[in-house]
Amino acid sequence: MSEVLEIWNAAVPLRPAAVWRCTTVGQAREAVRQARADNAALSVLGGGHDWAGRAIRDGAQVIDLRGMREVTVDEDVATVGGGATALDLITAAAAVRKSAATGTIGAVGMGGLTLGGGYGPLNGVAGLAADNLLAAEVVLADGTVVTATEASEPDLLWALRGGGGNFGVVTSMKVRLHPIPVVWTGRVIFPLDQAHEVLAGFGELIAEAPDELTVQAGFLSAPDGAPVIFFLPTWSGAPDDGAPWVRRLEGLGRPVVSAVGPAEYGEALRRGDQMFARDGRHYAIRTRNLTALTPPTVNALVAATATRTSPLSAINLHHFHGAAARVALPATAFGVRQPHFMAEIIASWRPAVGPDADSGARHREWALATARRLDPHALSGGYPNLLTTDEPERVEDAYGPNGPRLIVAKKAYDPDGVFTATPLPAAATPGFPGDEGELALD
Ligand SMILES: Cc1cc2nc3c(=O)[nH]c(=O)nc-3n(C[C@H](O)[C@H](O)[C@H](O)COP(=O)(O)OP(=O)(O)OC[C@H]3O[C@@H](n4cnc5c(N)ncnc54)[C@H](O)[C@@H]3O)c2cc1C
Repeated sequence: MSEVLEIWNAAVPLRPAAVWRCTTVGQAREAVRQARADNAALSVLGGGHDWAGRAIRDGAQVIDLRGMREVTVDEDVATVGGGATALDLITAAAAVRKSAATGTIGAVGMGGLTLGGGYGPLNGVAGLAADNLLAAEVVLADGTVVTATEASEPDLLWALRGGGGNFGVVTSMKVRLHPIPVVWTGRVIFPLDQAHEVLAGFGELIAEAPDELTVQAGFLSAPDGAPVIFFLPTWSGAPDDGAPWVRRLEGLGRPVVSAVGPAEYGEALRRGDQMFARDGRHYAIRTRNLTALTPPTVNALVAATATRTSPLSAINLHHFHGAAARVALPATAFGVRQPHFMAEIIASWRPAVGPDADSGARHREWALATARRLDPHALSGGYPNLLTTDEPERVEDAYGPNGPRLIVAKKAYDPDGVFTATPLPAAATPGFPGDEGELALD
């Protein structure tokens, strides 16, 4: 019998044909085999935070990994269940006074986040979440179970580091831990009318920032509805060395709020959960990678903020630098290594009912119009975890020069296209014209 599976974005009420609730790799393997025997479409549900709802396909069989959230820690490595959240991982790591590269929010699944890339507060010191993926246990499309490491199935491990959940069911991952139990974190907020001076100074500050300082910035509404600029700094170095950076951030303008101090890394993620809650709100997200906060880029961001159609909507700028930018581009499938700001343009609204019913069209249009406004200031491509197939030219460029190798890996590991996660270049689709070419993984 079909049922509605609840995921983060309540705008995606998809009905799968059947749900396989898996708690072991054996059950996941059986689910893949049975779905293939039934000739049924398949999808994999991790933490359920993909805004486009790709963990669930209408009428498909869903492999639900939310019963596989166990995390165990051995020295500098955690073994993370395929359905574990960032907070599950950080809670286990904190017990040995360590942290891991995660996103900014505790409830997001480590599966989708890591496989798609994984921007976060530690990317200056630790790289992306995908850069910290050491091994993965995977149920492939033919039902076999393999462990991908640098030594065994290295092409699969390469593809999983940024190529998304397009290669199989990842039932567990080994990820590197870092000796960072406590960070300096919090928020500094300025009114929107200070945007130009504040963001000009921020551009200078960020150009000098050491790896230990990663600052998420953005635009949202204060409780009174007024638009504001926010900064969420994370300082992961020696505590005393962080304070001057916080003071410099505060000095960019005349802040209306400044609350930055030491906190356990997990506490920072819990605070993030409150910002983008899973409480029945509807969401639509667009993304662009910005190289710099030049005056025209700031103008575009300010104009977009001033014209947002819902007070719940926001723009986040994820800061990509340091260790994440030093990984060689061919080393993983992730397609961009130059320093940039990943803009997450989040339209968010409450769906009123009756005469006030809100289809969401104007909010979706705001997000798309904002993305287009940023196009002249953006790199080609974008973050695959947030892109959708309705921007095919961006998907084609999203993996940069890694695209051809990713297509070869897709054909080697999932030739029938059983797994459809974050978008891949069109040539990865079975039956794409010119598909008869030879496989060459070396
Ligand atoms: C509130 C919020 C905050 C976010 N913050 C960040 C951030 O700070 N940094 C960042 O980089 N991204 C961020 N994202 C984006 C997020 O990384 C992606 O949406 C990611 O796909 C979510 O993973 P999930 O497992 O929760 O999602 P799901 O919806 O369960 O899955 C997403 C995709 O990954 C596949 N998948 C998930 N787990 C597995 C698995 N174990 N094996 C195989 N395939 C799998 C699914 O099939 C699906 O296609 C955020 C998203 C939200 C909604």
